[in-house]
Amino acid sequence: MKILILGSGGREHAFAWKIAQSPRVDAIFVAPGNAGTALEPRVTNVDIAAEDVPRLIEFAKREAIDLTIVGPEAPLVIGVVDAFNAAGLRCFGPTQAAARLEGSKAFTKDFLKRHRIPTAAYATFTKATFDAEWVRKQRAPLVVKADGLAAGKGVIICETIDEAIRSTEAMFAGQFGQAGATVVIEEFLEGEEASFIAIVSGTDILPLATSQDHKRLDDADRGPNTGGMGAYSPAPVVTDEMHARIMREVMEPTVRGLTADGTPYLGFLYAGIMIAPDGTPNVLEFNCRFGDPETQPIMMRLQSDLIDLCEAALDRRLKEVDANWDPRAAVGVVLAAGGYPDSPQKGDAIAGLDRAAKLPGKVFHAGTKLQGDAVVTSGGRVLCAVGLGDSVSDAQRAAYALADTIQWQGVHYRRDIGYRAIAREQASKAKK
Ligand code: AMP
Repeated sequence: MKILILGSGGREHAFAWKIAQSPRVDAIFVAPGNAGTALEPRVTNVDIAAEDVPRLIEFAKREAIDLTIVGPEAPLVIGVVDAFNAAGLRCFGPTQAAARLEGSKAFTKDFLKRHRIPTAAYATFTKATFDAEWVRKQRAPLVVKADGLAAGKGVIICETIDEAIRSTEAMFAGQFGQAGATVVIEEFLEGEEASFIAIVSGTDILPLATSQDHKRLDDADRGPNTGGMGAYSPAPVVTDEMHARIMREVMEPTVRGLTADGTPYLGFLYAGIMIAPDGTPNVLEFNCRFGDPETQPIMMRLQSDLIDLCEAALDRRLKEVDANWDPRAAVGVVLAAGGYPDSPQKGDAIAGLDRAAKLPGKVFHAGTKLQGDAVVTSGGRVLCAVGLGDSVSDAQRAAYALADTIQWQGVHYRRDIGYRAIAREQASKAKK
């Protein structure tokens, strides 16, 4: 089979690396890819942007691509799957209509409310309907969210009412362009977050391994929100009981609701969940794709053939397959460029990748490119070093052994990825 993967991040490198292990696959193309996919055996980069749908279709036809897998949200939200399907090409991902679950937070909040799925209380405003008095009647902290895609930056946690009003007005003034023309203001939820990712085909759901990501820039969850500074899998906060609740209270009503609304879902569906102190699994957001950096540790643990799972979903046979997992834990540490997230420094040569390649685990690339033979930084989140271990503590040690061999000017990474799970491990050891 010939596979095309759309995107250029760590998620796409992890997909390409995993799919390259499939005995069914002869060639993998990544459009546009990064230095990691360029260097991966059996993988070739194609110089086409992930949103350039006409050129992607032309390429897929010319190369007789059997299956295209869409990594990021932007092509999904502009309808890449609809266009591929109309051209008679197989493409794994939701249609434009189903991808609104990520493309519009206001749409999603209304969807959640209509289908009685737990989520924070909220109100939606445009510049014309904004009611600062309503905001003054709420209790701080509040969370202000740009409706549209804002590359993970459009969510502002406001400690005071005045800050919430200012943040909302800044969005109306164009801080996030058209994405902020509509704004959702919602109640701040306490609890612990978990990422719940599944393969969905209509009303069938194949849950994948659980994970937890770390959004804040610095240790102990301080500093600004980022696209994600690291992730690990499995996430012990999702106990068997919590897993069953998330399936029953979130995933099942969501896929039933999408089908009933005439927009059945196919693809990876990611629910960002805030588990409340009373155990309610509140939905923070949906993503219509795999998470980044959750993909990297999850792909390290996946033993099944990813192509088999995607094909089962496309062929409506999802109920017949299972996903098998390495029982070990995986921890992924994101190595970011200096200045990330506001103004990441680019073009720095990365040292130590050869040494890291000799250690156990895997370094996935995200914001990298080849300059001659050298790998240089080209984005905010540059690499994700993933270690495996019998416990989260062991996996963390393996991940940092990798990360510590790599160097460039201004590299920044957290030292505490997985700390919640490690605290749980230590607490249960102390009990024994
Ligand atoms: P979102 O893109 O909506 O998931 O928001 C990004 C991040 O902001 C989440 O992963 C949470 O850490 C935080 N967040 C979003 N909404 C809330 C909320 N209602 N209460 C507390 N934290 C939130």
